[in-house]
Amino acid sequence: MKRIFNFSAGPAILPIPVLEEASRGVLEIAGSGMSLLEVSHRGKEYEAIHFDARDRLLRVMGLSPDEYTALFLGGGASLQFAMLPMNFLRQGQTADYVHTGEWAIKAIKEARRFGDVNVAGSSEASRFSYIPKDLNLTPGAQYVHITTNNTIEGTEYSALPDTGDVPLVADASSDILSRAVDYSRLHLIYAGAQKNAGAAGVTLVIARKSCLERASDDLPVILSYKTHAKADSLYNTPPAFAVYIVGLVLKWIEEQGGISVVDARNREKAEIVYRALDEYPGFYDPAVTDRADRSLMNVTFRLKRAELEKEFLAGAQAREMEGLKGHRSVGGFRASIYNAFPIEGCQALAAYLHEFAAANG
Ligand code: PMP
Repeated sequence: MKRIFNFSAGPAILPIPVLEEASRGVLEIAGSGMSLLEVSHRGKEYEAIHFDARDRLLRVMGLSPDEYTALFLGGGASLQFAMLPMNFLRQGQTADYVHTGEWAIKAIKEARRFGDVNVAGSSEASRFSYIPKDLNLTPGAQYVHITTNNTIEGTEYSALPDTGDVPLVADASSDILSRAVDYSRLHLIYAGAQKNAGAAGVTLVIARKSCLERASDDLPVILSYKTHAKADSLYNTPPAFAVYIVGLVLKWIEEQGGISVVDARNREKAEIVYRALDEYPGFYDPAVTDRADRSLMNVTFRLKRAELEKEFLAGAQAREMEGLKGHRSVGGFRASIYNAFPIEGCQALAAYLHEFAAANG
């Protein structure tokens, strides 16, 4: 099997053992004589996978199943931009949002349909190059929403903000399961699975049970968190194959030694790439200058000489490095180095960064 260095921002690289086991599951699941793709979501084969993935998710995140529920929903993280305020924000109420980039603003725009939004902090004036720390929080707000890792801009919260009694909620689509976080500080966490947690098609929603009890009852059934919590994410047909992959990824994380081991490896990987960029301040322009705010998952940078961008990309492709082009809205480059991305790929990129700067600097 040929493997290149895949720096795609998502859907993204998966661990090889996960791909191997998944390929077996596509042919036959649990000695049933059926493919996982062919079995009923109410049958014993799928139910075992579903509940194992749910329990494993909470375990890997260090959350108690007495206090937290994990849901597997469709619609992507983008549906959560709407579902969250739909369930917890009414006209006349306020939610605080921190504006840290393109995904955050999408969440803000959806929330404005349902109630008042206070933008408690924003780094927009500095092209989202840092995480705002001094927040202007609303006493008694329904919740405070943050984007823990900003996939496009390359910033990441190194510490969760203190929001007092107001529940903290996070879009963790691009850093969930990537580093040691005290997830119990959060009341609700949502994440599309297609970066660190699995394949596209399922969104993880992990919430405090006490938080879900306060959700609205006056909603279309399918958009109510209570519906999915009551039915253990089996109210309707779940994205079964994607849930299966999440379970395999979680098993892989546990086999690695859990999140703390993955965290240490991710720090080492990111350091290799950032160090190479920082060595040539006259040549490379990292998008995030405050080191504490630099993402371990998405390393964003430009070339000071923009006319060399095409050549840089072509050289990377010739070295079997794909997916380095920055998001279309910001340009430049982005190296996404999620959990499954190997350290050898970071070393190869660092070597190329040295080589390219030396040849053109
Ligand atoms: N939030 C963040 C931080 C993201 O990176 C993305 C997708 N890249 C989304 C939300 C949207 O996710 P989806 O495509 O699953 O709706």
